[in-house]
Amino acid sequence: MTPDSTAPLDRLGRHLRDLRVSVTDRCNFRCTYCMPRERFGSDHQFLPRAELLRFEEIARVVRVLAGLGVRKVRLTGGEPLVRRDVTELVGMLADIEGVDDLAMTTNASLLAPVAGDLYAAGLRRLTISLDALDDEIFRAMSDTKIGVRHVLDGIEAAQAAGFAPIKVNAVVRGGVNEGQIVPLARYGREHGLIVRFIEFMDVGTTNHWKLNQVVPSRDVLAAIAAEFPIEPLDPNYTGEVAERWRYRDGGGEVGVISSVSRPFCRTCTRARLSAIGELFTCLFAAAGTDVRAWLRDGIDDTALHERLAAVWSGRDDRYSELRTEETARAAKVEMSYIGG
Ligand code: SAM
Ligand code: SF4
Ligand code: SF4
Repeated sequence: MTPDSTAPLDRLGRHLRDLRVSVTDRCNFRCTYCMPRERFGSDHQFLPRAELLRFEEIARVVRVLAGLGVRKVRLTGGEPLVRRDVTELVGMLADIEGVDDLAMTTNASLLAPVAGDLYAAGLRRLTISLDALDDEIFRAMSDTKIGVRHVLDGIEAAQAAGFAPIKVNAVVRGGVNEGQIVPLARYGREHGLIVRFIEFMDVGTTNHWKLNQVVPSRDVLAAIAAEFPIEPLDPNYTGEVAERWRYRDGGGEVGVISSVSRPFCRTCTRARLSAIGELFTCLFAAAGTDVRAWLRDGIDDTALHERLAAVWSGRDDRYSELRTEETARAAKVEMSYIGG
């Protein structure tokens, strides 16, 4: 669908097309780059349930945002599968007119038993995060007692349920899992998965991000190409964040997401709705708009549409283009909260 000509543009001329919805700030992993245990320990206060947007509230905001141009909705978190009855939400969102692409990003550790239900409810795309195949390196990255086998079982169950092609996201952290690039690429080739390697980003303020721990995508591609020859592919659509490559021998597709070394703010059409209903117009924002307050004050759909349109029209975010070691230290919302 082409963007509606009445849909608002932001101050840099960008449409609103994608919405990421965080359904919870909780997670059963403690990935070092996202929820480091020293900050998200047993005493960490997660959001109380009453604070979370109810499914009806999420569906209402999505419906109004679909009227402003949103076509893709991705459920995320935290870990979306720890939110009780999330399948019900999938069903509600799948029915919204205009939303033609409904996806979820998950660590897949809890996926195997619910993959079929998610598919039946209308979810069609899954992105699964997996940073290593080696159990020890996997646990070092994700800081969990859960073995990598659970994630692989989740992937297999999702394929059996009909999800295809599944994307696998791997964050590469210098000195920790670089050695897993080729094994992950090989696993993707063997199982018909599109593996995408993500540069370690300075989201939030707790993950001890340092520029020298970012493995630039060009190094990732060089490591893959040394093993399996690859050639570039055209983007599927304008604004696609992953750069796509194909294996020359027909072994499928692989990608890189270079948010640090090659920022893509210019074509960024994404907004994020936090678990408590704040709308963020950039992953690196320090503050969002409290949409939940409007909902619970009884706003009608027309006023909600107008206010959300005004938020998007006022947007001028382009953090990644302006990133420095100094901005990386500035106050920002954590990824597990805002929704990755
Ligand atoms: N728990 C789910 C998962 O891990 O798939 C969904 C939420 S998670 C915040 C979404 C994505 O953000 C994951 O693919 C994760 O690897 C990525 N991510 C988190 N912190 C990151 C960081 N500092 N740099 C790059 N990617 C990051
Ligand atoms: Fe949890 Fe996903 Fe963050 Fe890892 S990346 S801690 S799985 S929310
Ligand atoms: Fe979009 Fe902000 Fe990321 Fe730039 S830094 S691509 S504006 S989310």
